[in-house]
Amino acid sequence: MSSPDYDVIIVGTGPTGLGAAFHLVEHSSSLSILMVDREKICSGGLLNDCKQNYTFPIGFAVENWSREEAERLLPQVEKWLQPVIKEKQNIDVYRRRAERLGTTLLDIRQAHVGTDRSLRLIQYLRDELSRRGVQFLLEREVTDIFDNASGTGIVMSDGESFRGRRVVVSPGRKGFSFLQQVMERMGIFYIDNVVDVGIRIETKRENYPIVNDYYDPKFIFPNSVRTFCTNSGLAKVVLERYQEFNLVNGHALSEHHSGNNLVNFALLKTIGLKNPVRSGQQMAVFLARLANEIGGGMPLMQRVGDFRMGKRSSGETFNEDLYDFPPSCQVTPGDLGLAVPAKIMRHLWEAMKRLDTIVPGVLHPSTIMYYPEIKMYANKPAFLDSHFRVSACVYMAGDGAGTSRGITGAWASGIRVSEGILQSFAADF
Ligand SMILES: Cc1cc2nc3c(=O)[nH]c(=O)nc-3n(C[C@H](O)[C@H](O)[C@H](O)COP(=O)(O)OP(=O)(O)OC[C@H]3O[C@@H](n4cnc5c(N)ncnc54)[C@H](O)[C@@H]3O)c2cc1C
Repeated sequence: MSSPDYDVIIVGTGPTGLGAAFHLVEHSSSLSILMVDREKICSGGLLNDCKQNYTFPIGFAVENWSREEAERLLPQVEKWLQPVIKEKQNIDVYRRRAERLGTTLLDIRQAHVGTDRSLRLIQYLRDELSRRGVQFLLEREVTDIFDNASGTGIVMSDGESFRGRRVVVSPGRKGFSFLQQVMERMGIFYIDNVVDVGIRIETKRENYPIVNDYYDPKFIFPNSVRTFCTNSGLAKVVLERYQEFNLVNGHALSEHHSGNNLVNFALLKTIGLKNPVRSGQQMAVFLARLANEIGGGMPLMQRVGDFRMGKRSSGETFNEDLYDFPPSCQVTPGDLGLAVPAKIMRHLWEAMKRLDTIVPGVLHPSTIMYYPEIKMYANKPAFLDSHFRVSACVYMAGDGAGTSRGITGAWASGIRVSEGILQSFAADF
């Protein structure tokens, strides 16, 4: 057997891959490392908005993390990302109101880079790794992973292959299907029974003034509903494009830009499927397709005023006198009631009503509800150890493998993988 091309190959240059690479170069300068990505620059949240949460459990998949383990690694994440933590005010006022309604407001250490400045951060991180000898192979897609008698490595879409002593697979949420295919082929047992389904709310800043005190307020409501990824300043709802459908998401530019007076945030419900239904991914695809079908290939949007009256929003009526701001994302005006399963809609709406009592104004008739916002990161491979190893020499981590739900948790997952790799190298000698 010929010797491997690299000590470590990392698939995916998102925060998981970066966290793994930085930990490796910091602790062993002699390792040869290759990072591969099908994009030119890492996509996902490091590029879009780049809010960083430094308080457990935000961004972590709690089934794989203890508070102690997360708090041990978060300072290491902070060391490389060098966040400027945002100030918060009046938290107690909102918290007391929330508690009366059976709702929790989490107090999170948070930083916000903004989409306009995140590119610079990514470039800095990449330059730093290059300077330390890490090689990058960009705009190249990995189609398979192998770990067998002939060695360990990756196969590219053009058939070329590279061998590594260890392979880290961290393809993120968009690599969900790729990861599932690899696990099927490698015979790795996994479950995929959890999915987050929800709406993105957009309203005028004056209708959601809590953002003046707390940039990304994290409310936890009954029925597994939570607020997620709040954006203000120059904030926009955006399309998250997949091959077969479009979802919505949101981002904002840094505070250096003057604002558009809008706020957007997601309201997500976590759904844990029980037997006989097994795949959260399949359910998500089904729901996304249904909404896009009704929306003529696009997500749907509906004004709260129309929703309350039980009538669809239409192009002609979408901007009537009460509806006093244009949507920042042009999708199809319609009726969410046709697309969102009743139980999910009921729980989301109950959360909205609670939120409107805690922060009066958010249910203004002009507020827009966009659908679908769906998080498909619930592949859960059967890990062989606490470093997310799935076979003799292959590790799977990050949002795609269900070990994280945000930038900091993903970066920490990468560190945990690299700790395992370094231990295994030490044991080889
Ligand atoms: C629009 C948007 C905004 C977000 N905003 C935030 C935020 O503000 N704060 C926050 O904490 N989280 C945010 N998130 C979530 C955050 O992006 C993820 O939690 C985090 O990036 C996960 O890191 P990861 O390394 O696991 O995956 P990713 O960051 O998704 O990186 C995976 C990488 O693998 C590459 N890849 C995938 N498949 C292959 C393949 N077959 N071959 C080669 N390369 C492949 C992808 O191109 C990608 O660059 C956001 C997500 C999105 C989509």
